[in-house]
Amino acid sequence: MNALSVVGRRIDPVMGVQTKAIAYLTGELSKRGFRWLLPVILSSITDPLWPDPAAGEALKPPEVEAYGRRLRLTHSMILHKQMAIAMGIDRLFVLSPNIRLEGREADDGRHAYEFTQLDMEVAGSSMDDIMGLIEDLITGLFRELRPILWEAFERELPRARKPFRRFTIEEIREEFGSEEKASRALEEPFWITGIPREFYDREVDGTWRNYDLYLPEGYGEVSSGGEREWEYERILSKIRSSGLSEESFRPYLEVAKAGLLRPSAGAGIGVERLVRYVVGAKHIAEVQPFPRIPGVPAVI
Ligand code: ATP
Ligand code: ASP
Ligand code: MG
Repeated sequence: MNALSVVGRRIDPVMGVQTKAIAYLTGELSKRGFRWLLPVILSSITDPLWPDPAAGEALKPPEVEAYGRRLRLTHSMILHKQMAIAMGIDRLFVLSPNIRLEGREADDGRHAYEFTQLDMEVAGSSMDDIMGLIEDLITGLFRELRPILWEAFERELPRARKPFRRFTIEEIREEFGSEEKASRALEEPFWITGIPREFYDREVDGTWRNYDLYLPEGYGEVSSGGEREWEYERILSKIRSSGLSEESFRPYLEVAKAGLLRPSAGAGIGVERLVRYVVGAKHIAEVQPFPRIPGVPAVI
């Protein structure tokens, strides 16, 4: 790909769908009393993305030297969402640019190394609350987009009936062999719950209170979320047992130690993955005006 082939693509119809999708989702959240935060791109702390069963090896966020400090580029705003909840912003969302520099092998059509999450968090809420919210957003969006998708892309979205089916990660692997196979076999969006993941997701009696939303037709994961840990001792012990450096989370641990973190739950929807699915694109690069394909340097 060169600059002329990037600029020569006919991507305007996809951007039309993306505009409608973002307008619908942000409009719904605004109507429900959510505060719209602006993104953080440089910070002293970010999501470790580790340990996650899908993570190849621990990703290191790129760093930038600024004012005598090393700041990291945002992997995800999960820790900032918890901080915002600590500030008393009880319902929030943000369209958050995420940088995740993965290798060429991550290029499976749904990974980009720069993408945007519609990331949300609600104080005092449970996994059922957030799963219900995401189901409302997805079914409402499909309803909204159906007519224009048919006209512009001859694309018909499957029915998506609430509540979506729920499976534990063990059930998925036993019944279908893998998450990927389940995504090809099932015909409607479905949930996978109880996924061993990063320290910030809550564990109760050995069960992870978290959830991933998967799309059919092999499109795979489009959203991840969970109830969160808020107690200092639990967070510290999970950071230690994951082999992460405490120093990397110093300001977060300071707030946790002061008892200021609060119970919350949330989720993030990958905007490009959602748009890729609704328009039926093969590769995520087809929905990015400026593609960010893992292992391939950006042309523009
Ligand atoms: P995967 O397992 O597919 O690599 P993940 O579980 O590491 O994804 P999360 O950390 O859960 O991703 O990120 C939240 C959401 O952001 C995902 O559900 C997905 O929609 C989106 N997302 C994550 N990584 C990427 C990526 N590399 N490219 C595009 N979207 C992404
Ligand atoms: N956004 C995700 C969540 O809310 C976390 C992530 O991006 O890693 O759980
Ligand atoms: Mg995930």
